[in-house]
Amino acid sequence: MGIGHYGVSFALKAVDKNISLGLLFVAAQFVDILWLIFVLLGIERVHIVPGVTAANPFDFVFYPFTHSLVASFFWAGAVYMIFRLIPVKPASRQSQVALVLGAAVLSHFFLDLIVHRPDLPLASGDSYKIGLGLWNSVLASSLLEGLLLLGGLWVYLDKTKSLTVMGKYGMSIFAVCLLVANLSVYREDVLNFFLPLPLTPENFASFTLGYHFLFVGIAFWLDQKRG
Ligand SMILES: [Zn+2]
Repeated sequence: MGIGHYGVSFALKAVDKNISLGLLFVAAQFVDILWLIFVLLGIERVHIVPGVTAANPFDFVFYPFTHSLVASFFWAGAVYMIFRLIPVKPASRQSQVALVLGAAVLSHFFLDLIVHRPDLPLASGDSYKIGLGLWNSVLASSLLEGLLLLGGLWVYLDKTKSLTVMGKYGMSIFAVCLLVANLSVYREDVLNFFLPLPLTPENFASFTLGYHFLFVGIAFWLDQKRG
């Protein structure tokens, strides 16, 4: 799943308004960020196979260290533990912040589960694989992604207040940009605009990593315009 994960980030502001949206963006996409790095390092493998699902050409051959159920609990637990150790103010928020960020990390697996083919391993690379396969329908999967993003945005706008003009309109404009960017997965001509290089796993991984950090930066910046 792509931008649907950010719906979780937006919605979690309702639990703790003081956690930066940028941090929530990193948490909800934490395992994908790790996955892209692992693909670049050759630790995990993805093949480009046009038509493997209706929605995108990605055949997730081997990615147990980031996308198995066991790994998802491991990374969520690791993020939880790290944020139990990093001091936050007031100290009473400590466990809540850790819990929210850990939950955001864990949510990634369960949203991926809806759209992926049965390629998500339970544990190791050759263990039983699961996935409900919504990516076999472009319409259904893009609708779900859009609804998750806009639903989360609605909660976010409801729970925060704009401090500036940018704060009032910026996040909605950003969400529209994310919806357009999401089309790149579905339309080759749009993908060529966002990724003006041959579609190889390495090109895809490095560009998408760049986009992830761009989105995190924008979310962090726009979030400061709302209180
Ligand atoms: Zn993923």
